[in-house]
Amino acid sequence: MNKNMLYRSIPKVDILLEKEEIQKLIEKYSRDTVLEAIHTEMDKLRAFIGQCEDEEKAKRQIELLVEHVEMTVTSMHTPNMRSVINGTGTILHTNLGRAPISREHMRRVAEIATGYSNLEYNLEAGKRGERYSHFEKLLCKITGAEAAMAVNNNASSVLLILSSLAKGGEVIVSRGELIEIGGKFRIPDVMEESGAALVEVGTTNKTHMDDYENAITEETKALLKVHTSNYRIVGFMDSVAIDELIPMAKEHDIPVVEDLGSGVLIDLAKYGLTHEPTVQESIQKGADVVCFSGDKLLGGPQAGIIIGKKKYIDMMKKNQLTRALRIDKFTAATLELVLQEYLSEEKAIQNIPVLRMITKPLEEITKDARSLGRMLKREHLPAQIEVISCESQIGGGSLPLERIESMAVAIRPEKISVAELEDRMRHLPVPIIPRTFNDQIVLDVRTMEREDFRVLTDQLEEFQVLEEKSLIVRR
Ligand SMILES: *Cc1c(COP(=O)(O)O)cnc(C)c1O
Repeated sequence: MNKNMLYRSIPKVDILLEKEEIQKLIEKYSRDTVLEAIHTEMDKLRAFIGQCEDEEKAKRQIELLVEHVEMTVTSMHTPNMRSVINGTGTILHTNLGRAPISREHMRRVAEIATGYSNLEYNLEAGKRGERYSHFEKLLCKITGAEAAMAVNNNASSVLLILSSLAKGGEVIVSRGELIEIGGKFRIPDVMEESGAALVEVGTTNKTHMDDYENAITEETKALLKVHTSNYRIVGFMDSVAIDELIPMAKEHDIPVVEDLGSGVLIDLAKYGLTHEPTVQESIQKGADVVCFSGDKLLGGPQAGIIIGKKKYIDMMKKNQLTRALRIDKFTAATLELVLQEYLSEEKAIQNIPVLRMITKPLEEITKDARSLGRMLKREHLPAQIEVISCESQIGGGSLPLERIESMAVAIRPEKISVAELEDRMRHLPVPIIPRTFNDQIVLDVRTMEREDFRVLTDQLEEFQVLEEKSLIVRR
């Protein structure tokens, strides 16, 4: 085969630029973008011809040059971050963005964020205000704390608290609570970053009051309790509850800090789940400082919420680190809206997606699963479709042992493998993330909205996802 002839048959840039399709691209995007894509695609084409031994294949690639340029330019302008359909049944899926925010709340945040706002402006006084002012009173009212603030996430909360209270001093923690949260966030490492020295007490499974008391020295600046939200020690174990620890700490005049992780504000036991210690309980029991995530069981934006005694919160507000860890206007606005829902538990359950999903009655879920099952069957896809019962998880390191009874639609493809189907679903314009289980694709409807059903069935049909040859164009 004559490679020189092939190289010569690649159209020149000037010729390409005159083509109607390319002209359209230039009009829609810009000449520079299109030129860059042309050069990229030409380089790829030359490299392909260089290693290709099949003349027909090489010719075909040359023919496709314009199409490839179009694809490159369009994909450069298609956001990579997109909505996906969560069929996993894991409500707080960290990889899928944890807590979804309601449309209504986002609509109001959009109004604020697209213009100027009173983020740090006190409208009453006509001077500089505090970005926490929009939700501090609310947090105090809901939790019973004296003061409150928020930072970028709960890992930041722990860092800021320890740095403000215990830099240069010692902090006592039980060995049973020296946890790694995931994403390499480890309590001992965060302590080191904060400049506080870690004093470990007790053993992995047992820590007693004596252990804490014997470890207290002149240098002790705080006692830290960490809620082991993502694992459980069961069996022969003992730990000191916060209400026992507090009177002893008071005697020594040392603050007790509790990292609750999830930060649930309503008693989930009322809805059939295991009781998870609430934020209100911690404050009631007398914890001096409590911190928790904004986007776990609270159901809000990513944030680290810190509440407690005013004197400690004031120390944190003054810490230089606060400036580096501060929340933006999107978070401040969303937090206020989400927290307002908590003024009534009923409203919170109705209007906060995470709580709505957790408490969704099984009858409703069953109805949804049947409806999705019917919609899929109507498409006559080459697959066995079945409505099955399954178990959802809370996720996000919250309530690790909890399984909530749920319903799902199971798809067993007839022409392709389950792995192939799973892969194709992930490559759809609105990707679908399912669970695979028992050699079938399982879509737990607890984490899906009814609007998702139409999107899902239409895509499976349109892209012939279950056929031997699918129409999905991989990006
Ligand atoms: C999840 C968790 C964190 C980290 O919270 P992020 O908001 O993800 O930074 C810290 N401590 C505990 C106990 C947690 O469960």
